[in-house]
Amino acid sequence: MLAEIKNVSKTYESDGNKIQVLDSINFAVEDNDFICIVGPSGCGKSTLLRIIVGLEKPTSGEVFFKGEVIAPDNPKVAMVFQNFALFPWLTVKENIELVLESKKQGEEAEKVACKYIKAVGLDNFERVYPRELSGGMKQRVGFARALAVEPVLLCMDEPFSSLDALTSQNLKDELLMLWADTSMPPDAVIMVTHNVEEAVYMANRIIILSPRPGKIVADLKIELERPRNRKDPEFYRWVDKVYSLIV
Ligand code: ADP
Repeated sequence: MLAEIKNVSKTYESDGNKIQVLDSINFAVEDNDFICIVGPSGCGKSTLLRIIVGLEKPTSGEVFFKGEVIAPDNPKVAMVFQNFALFPWLTVKENIELVLESKKQGEEAEKVACKYIKAVGLDNFERVYPRELSGGMKQRVGFARALAVEPVLLCMDEPFSSLDALTSQNLKDELLMLWADTSMPPDAVIMVTHNVEEAVYMANRIIILSPRPGKIVADLKIELERPRNRKDPEFYRWVDKVYSLIV
């Protein structure tokens, strides 16, 4: 087992009001999992992901990574954000080298940065600034930066939702190739999405949350062969099944 989410609940307090966002979330992440978390807007999907990567603390419960309580600076877990979260004053290569700073410097950092810039198809853009890149290319930098730390677990919050359809399809297929390639990180992926088709296309497991406070209503194993075909009636049966479980 790679990670374990154990009895995680979260309540926010603002102006004296308590809002419970997550209620007793339990699941395990295995090697080679590609888990998509879906559910209605506001049900706590992003909150759960931030808790899993250690960016936020649960009110109760715990997240274990390889048997230890997750820490925010765990180098084996990386995050890709919907809005890319790049530093505009740094070039593509510098944005990636920055996350390597504590582990690798100089030529070594440069080598790793270039490896992942290439892996996401951005060779020749090393010295370019984010403002000169399209949304799809910015997100490629987001992926390269996350992969450069060679994470075992890659967490992604709606990484494709601000991209056009064609760009996002290409990136999805490239990401699936990286996930299936045992010589490249990551071993497992957790992705939050509101797009059910995208979840059925990518996941081997889909976890469906109820409206707030989010509880797990289903943890489905998607038994479709890869590469998946959106025109296959069986694909649509899965999409319908997931929709039928989302309230
Ligand atoms: P989802 O990703 O499923 O749309 P979120 O996890 O973003 O849901 O948010 C779930 C709920 O928690 C929302 O009602 C949101 O307003 C609330 N929330 C999220 N972050 C905070 C915070 N830092 N303080 C107070 N409420 C928050």
